[in-house]
Parts: sequence; structure tokens; C-alpha cells
Amino acid sequence: MDTMYITHPASYLHEMGVLHPDSPKRIDAISDQLIMSGVMPYIINCHSSSSASDKDILRVHTIDYLNYLRSHSPKEGSYYYIDMDTIMNYYTLDAAFYSAGVGLFAIDSVFNKHVNNAFCATRPPGHHACSNRAMGSCFFNNIAIAARYAISKYNLKRLAIIDFDVHHGNGTEEIFANDPSVLMCSFFQHPFYPDTKLIYSANMCNIPVEAYADGAFIRDIVSSKWVPAIESYRPELILISAGFDAHREDDMGQLNLHESDYKWITDILVNMSEKYSSNRIVSFLEGGYDMSSLGRSAVLHIRSLAKI
Ligand SMILES: [Zn+2]
Repeated sequence: MDTMYITHPASYLHEMGVLHPDSPKRIDAISDQLIMSGVMPYIINCHSSSSASDKDILRVHTIDYLNYLRSHSPKEGSYYYIDMDTIMNYYTLDAAFYSAGVGLFAIDSVFNKHVNNAFCATRPPGHHACSNRAMGSCFFNNIAIAARYAISKYNLKRLAIIDFDVHHGNGTEEIFANDPSVLMCSFFQHPFYPDTKLIYSANMCNIPVEAYADGAFIRDIVSSKWVPAIESYRPELILISAGFDAHREDDMGQLNLHESDYKWITDILVNMSEKYSSNRIVSFLEGGYDMSSLGRSAVLHIRSLAKI
């Protein structure tokens, strides 16, 4: 049983201008490090051609919002600014459908037991996207779309979403607040972008932390808050919003994690997946904007998933 690394060519075509930190080069930063570190031959490297359908998107987003994106998709060579962070080019909508679709392909792959777990290295990311709104470089909430697909297709009762991006996964929180079929666990720098109102509900274990918190502080949160919540919930599937922008070398945020912290957190989640979810984990790339630390962190995350 293996780990699958999934990309899609459309992830390279969606771009938001040369100065935007969410650049297509982020995918290469990860793939290059997987090759350089010697990990790539030990995992399944897959280019998926799966696109999400309207039905898949509409399990999470409103029809008005989907129509809004379709009607504002720009001509080739021009951009449409939803906000200063969230910009559509000619290829963005296709890339967003494929980015969500790769997640669904990964869900099927772990339930069909082709692999134990999977890392989806696609763009655009998703965890800021709300049911009716794009923001923070996110258009469709990929992890939420995958969660609703898995619940619907595989009749799941309990699924955990773990988010270790430096930013609050506000979209995911909004979509699943008070939904007993999902437990969400995260930490995030606060106060900080997106600065949306925090939603406190029984199924949310989202822990705000102050700037400059280090790996030891974060590990304590994982051990004392996340692990007891996951153990009592016993999820049948674990999904991860894997942002690597809490790394100390990533200027996007001011948390001080090291790549070894991502390995430590992933080891805990792999252990939980062995106990509760028949090894099933699907992880989604969210943030991570410093190319070197993004590549190194993602490689350790994937090594932990693959136990190599
Ligand atoms: Zn982020």
C-alpha cells in the first residue's frame, strides 16, 4: 500500500500576475524536492485528469456563486480581480474544477484501496473559499468538496479535517460549523488574515495562536487539543489542509515552525489513521510561499504519509 502524489497540468496555467505569491512555481518547488531528495521513486506520481462536476461543487457552494464565477471568467490575456488576492485569468475556472476534481480522484483511490493515502499538489488552494464567496486566492473549497463527496459516496458518518496552514481556514469552518459529520482541528496565527469572525461550535477545535509561536508550542496544542478530540471522534477518513506557510522561513506569516514539525504532526495523523480510518488520509496543498521551505516541508509531510 502506497502514497500517491497527484498533480494536474491546469495548476500551472492559473496565475494571478508575476508579483502574486501564489505562483505556479510552488508545484515545481515540491516536485523538484521530491526528486532531489530521492523520495519520488518510492511514491506513485500521478497526473490526474479528473474534473469535479457542477454537482460536486454544488454540495458546498451556491449556484449563484458558481454562476458568478462563470460569468466573470476573463478573456485570454486579461484578469478579473475578485479582490487583491483572488484573481481570475482565462484558465482559473478550469484549474479550480480540476483542483477540486483531483481531491475526488484521491478520495476514490483511498476507498478503492489503490493507495493508503494521497497528497494533492494542485492550485488554486481552497480553505478560504466560503459557500458563496472567493477570497484569499481560493475559489472552490477543495477539501470541503472532497469531504461532502466522501460522505455522500461512501456513506461516512464521521470525517476529520485537519488544517495546519498559518491562516485560519475560515471557509472550511463556515461550511461545516455545527455539522456533526465533520470534526475540524486547526491552529492559526491570530490576529491575522483573514480576520473573519471565529465560529465556535462543538465540532470545531480551531486554536488561535499569537505571532512568533514556535514548534514546541504548536506540538503542545496538537497533543493536548487535537489528539483527544480525534480519539473521541474516531474519524473514518482524515483530510488535511496542508499549508506550509507557518514555516519560520516563510514571510507570509510570523509563526516559527521547522519542517521537522510538519513531519511530527503528520506522524501523529498517520498513527490516528491506522487506529480509526483504515489508513485513509487525503492531504491538500493550501499555502506555502517560500519555495525552499515549502519544498522541504512538503517532502517531509509526504515521507511521513509514505513511512519512508
Ligand atoms: Zn495560508
